Formats: sequence, C-alpha cells, structure tokens
Amino acid sequence: MTIFQKIIDRQIPADIVYEDDQSLAFRDLHAQAPTHVLVIPKRAIRSLADTADDDAALLGHLLIVARKVAEQLGLTNGFRTVINSGPDGGQSVDHLHVHLLGGRPLGWPPG
Ligand code: AMP
Repeated sequence: MTIFQKIIDRQIPADIVYEDDQSLAFRDLHAQAPTHVLVIPKRAIRSLADTADDDAALLGHLLIVARKVAEQLGLTNGFRTVINSGPDGGQSVDHLHVHLLGGRPLGWPPG
C-alpha cells in the first residue's frame, strides 16, 4: 500500500485542502514552492503510464481540481502543474498525482 493510499484511508494525517468523491488534494510534505499541493485520484492508479483511454474524464477532473485549488489558495499570478511518471520522470510514490506549484516564479527547464 502506498503512502497516498494511507492518506486516503485516513491512516496517516495530511493537510487536506480539497476533497470530493473522486479526488483528494493535500499539501506536499516537502514543499518546493510557497504553495505545493498534490491532487490525487481516490482510485489507486500507479502512474499516468498506467491509465486507460476511458480514464479521460478522471484525468480531466484532476486538472479541474488543480485549477479550483489554485483559485482557492490565491495563486492569481500563475502556477504550474506537473505529473512525474516512472523512474526517469522522477516519480517516487506509485499513486498517480498532479503537483500544483505556485507562489513564486518557477524556473524552466526542470532538472
Ligand atoms: P513524486 O516525486 O512526483 O512521486 O512526488 C511525490 C511527492 O510526495 C513528493 O513531492 C513528496 O514530498 C510527497 N510526499 C511524500 N510523502 C508525503 C506525505 N506523507 N504527505 C505529503 N506529501 C508527501
């Protein structure tokens, strides 16, 4: 079981900023920006590479939630959404998640 499944199941605490029937959003424990939130599906999906064509609505929903959380947390000057996938993508938790980062200018390209 992943650490994010334990957060969904309320076995470990998290600073939850949004929840609905399909998704959960909580603050990243090791924030890389003044605002750093993770948006995850409640359904256990390992990564973007493990999604199916009929997951389109759920994937779209995660981005809509990211937009709502950005609004809720006052990221009026912009923000970044990132999905790391697999070892080369830098994914460290095998439960699909969208990073929402903001509150400072973010550099590009990433490492
Ligand atoms: P990634 O490297 O893209 O898989 O992102 C995983 C993220 O999960 C990292 O930014 C971690 O800081 C974050 N993280 C790991 N454990 C926790 C936790 N218990 N609560 C909140 N964020 C976590």
